Amino acid sequence: MYWEKDVETMDRSALAVLQLRRLNETLKQAGRSAFYGKRFAAGADTPAQAGAAAGMPAQAGGKPAVASVELSDLEQLRELPFTKKDDLRNAFPYGFLTVDLEKVIRLHSSSGTTGNPTVVFHTPDDIDHWGNLIARCMYTTGVRKQDVFQNMMGYGLFTGGLGFHYGAEKLGVMTIPIGPGNSRRQIWFLKHLKTTVIHILPSYALRLYSFFEEMELDPREDLHLRIAFIGAEPHSEEIRKKIEELYGIKVYNSYGLSEMCGPGVAFECECQEGLHIWEDHFYPEIIDPASGRVLPDGERGELVLTTLTREAMPLIRYRTRDLTRFLPGECPCGRTHRRIDRITGRSDDMLIINGVNIFPIQIEKTLMAIPEIGHNYLIEIHKENFMDKLSVKVEISEEVFHGTLAELEKLQSKAAAALRAELGVTPNVKLVEPSSLPVSEGKARRVYDYRGGEEGGL
Ligand code: AMP
Ligand code: ZN
Repeated sequence: MYWEKDVETMDRSALAVLQLRRLNETLKQAGRSAFYGKRFAAGADTPAQAGAAAGMPAQAGGKPAVASVELSDLEQLRELPFTKKDDLRNAFPYGFLTVDLEKVIRLHSSSGTTGNPTVVFHTPDDIDHWGNLIARCMYTTGVRKQDVFQNMMGYGLFTGGLGFHYGAEKLGVMTIPIGPGNSRRQIWFLKHLKTTVIHILPSYALRLYSFFEEMELDPREDLHLRIAFIGAEPHSEEIRKKIEELYGIKVYNSYGLSEMCGPGVAFECECQEGLHIWEDHFYPEIIDPASGRVLPDGERGELVLTTLTREAMPLIRYRTRDLTRFLPGECPCGRTHRRIDRITGRSDDMLIINGVNIFPIQIEKTLMAIPEIGHNYLIEIHKENFMDKLSVKVEISEEVFHGTLAELEKLQSKAAAALRAELGVTPNVKLVEPSSLPVSEGKARRVYDYRGGEEGGL
């Protein structure tokens, strides 16, 4: 039932002792990076730190002086400043790196960043811990060596594919690294390899079902599937139930973000009542996103995470922007790590379109670089056949409005191609007449999110 019984069921006071020790080690390690070194030392500008701040690896200017902070109590962490996504972007590429490059074996990146991407480095130990966490998550839900695991998440910079891949191999499960898409081939593998466990985007799980109907197969009858892990994008309890019913399987919610490692940060156990956040590796806080104040247990707010075991790139009080709350009480499964509620939204304007993170500003930047496009635009997101559909309505400029139909078609393809290149998803671009989109008095409302039936505007 437990992958690591001692640590999963650890007494809370012993867990707090472990956390404080690891937190102090983390603070010391973080001090080796240009970013935290500067922050902790507040003004102690060694040549190495200056070099690193300019984008060089920490070791490039000689051994940096380690500036550190030591805490005697976990609560003292609240006094340290937050780390934000913008800090990561501004320190691109090496400002958060704490080790020599020769110790780094992997880089991942979060999708949907504006400007510099958010890059995350891993040492062999980081990869090892991450794999172990995924193995813990999978084992928790009953996956064993004899299972067949088909990983339908993207491989590459995105953490979903490789994260689960290494975890499943650590557990000893045969892993099919098929990645997403190509639905008929997915189904062929599911059927003939007698796949028992899948990892899939919730939106894709629903979409994939329509292919079964088309191929006249019934996943409940014709497959050996018993478990699915879904994550990477917000989804409701209803969606989980629907996938469970359609496929006749158990579906578990998997939460994570590249900045911490990727998936494996919090995961549902067999009780399926909230996600255990693995507190031996991450220290969670829930804050009021407006004031930054730590909220009393049980109140909904923004999840802030501090890594406790990351070597190459520890993060202190990282603002995830994900909204959730701690669930009260103990979990019947016996694990003592606290549970968080499913993520209900974000405190920033990031959109997740079929698992890909997108900021509206990326769309604006891309459109405004096209001279034939006017100033007003509008973003709409719908559900179509269970998938997210991104549509962008753009006003054309006065001059082009008198152009020919052929010119308009050319402009439409140009805008769609530019957006596809920037976002990694293909939007439906609709050109509209100049001054035809609504103009608001105050803050422009550009995003209309119609997923989930109701209009969930931002
Ligand atoms: P990335 O770093 O690109 O993998 O994106 C991480 C973000 O995806 C998180 O900060 C969440 O906003 C979202 N996310 C990941 N897993 C889940 C989940 N299980 N439920 C809701 N949102 C999720
Ligand atoms: Zn549990």
